[in-house]
Amino acid sequence: MSIIGVDVGGTNIKAGVLQDTFEVCCRLDKPTPPTAGGIVNTIQEIVAELWRHVPGAPVGISFAGTWDNQGRVTANQLGLKNAPVKQMLQDVFGMDIPVENDAVCALIAEHRYGALKDCQVGILLTLGTGIGGGVMVHGQPLRGYQGVHGELGHMITHLDGRLCSCGQKGCWEQYAAARVLGQMAAPLTTKELADQVRNGLQSDVWQQYIHEVVGGIQSLLMVFMPEVIVIGGGLSGAGSILVGSIQQELEQTSAFQTYCPFTRVVPASFRNDAGIIGAAALAEEKP
Ligand SMILES: [Zn+2]
Repeated sequence: MSIIGVDVGGTNIKAGVLQDTFEVCCRLDKPTPPTAGGIVNTIQEIVAELWRHVPGAPVGISFAGTWDNQGRVTANQLGLKNAPVKQMLQDVFGMDIPVENDAVCALIAEHRYGALKDCQVGILLTLGTGIGGGVMVHGQPLRGYQGVHGELGHMITHLDGRLCSCGQKGCWEQYAAARVLGQMAAPLTTKELADQVRNGLQSDVWQQYIHEVVGGIQSLLMVFMPEVIVIGGGLSGAGSILVGSIQQELEQTSAFQTYCPFTRVVPASFRNDAGIIGAAALAEEKP
């Protein structure tokens, strides 16, 4: 198998060729242009270059932003509003190119090849600048009306709490994103803090952060009854101490003890390459 995965993010468009071993090779990286037309042209250039290595290989695209089922994307970080990118890709390539939200692609990557493999109901949480991820239900990413995916990070965990970029107050990601731990840990870096905790230091900052993460996970347990919670994103670099702390505190909750004593918390299999691998999985999915 050789499949091309393209990952369109806020600052860069990354791409590579996925091979049988889940190794990504032939990597390319270009800055993300400021318009939908520019992005589509850059994708075309990148794919043309990769086709020189793997002629005619199928292509899938992971793309930041919210997609509707008409293939239009709205992405604040890319300055796009209802941009008909799916149709633009079809016009440029002369064929249908599968394209999907980046969080959904990461979810598909974990389900197809990683920590959610063979899992009936599982949740991916990516702790980064915000909280992203999604819910996999019986092999399908859970979607709302018109195919739009949910926004787990904007679940409210503090009524009338901190103002969020989405306009609500008290969203989970205002308390439990990796960025927030970075602020709480200062002047230490999050890695330095995680190292200290790993070495046995009792840290109120760490406990408070884990408490906020678990506060949201409890609600997800009660709503979805998941078998597995996968933790990804920048903070997953903190390694087993993060996952271990979350599991430990989760096991003290009624949500776990009474309703979901089966739920396991595990690290994501894919980190920086989740978008490329998930995009490639989209292309493989095509009949
Ligand atoms: Zn929000």
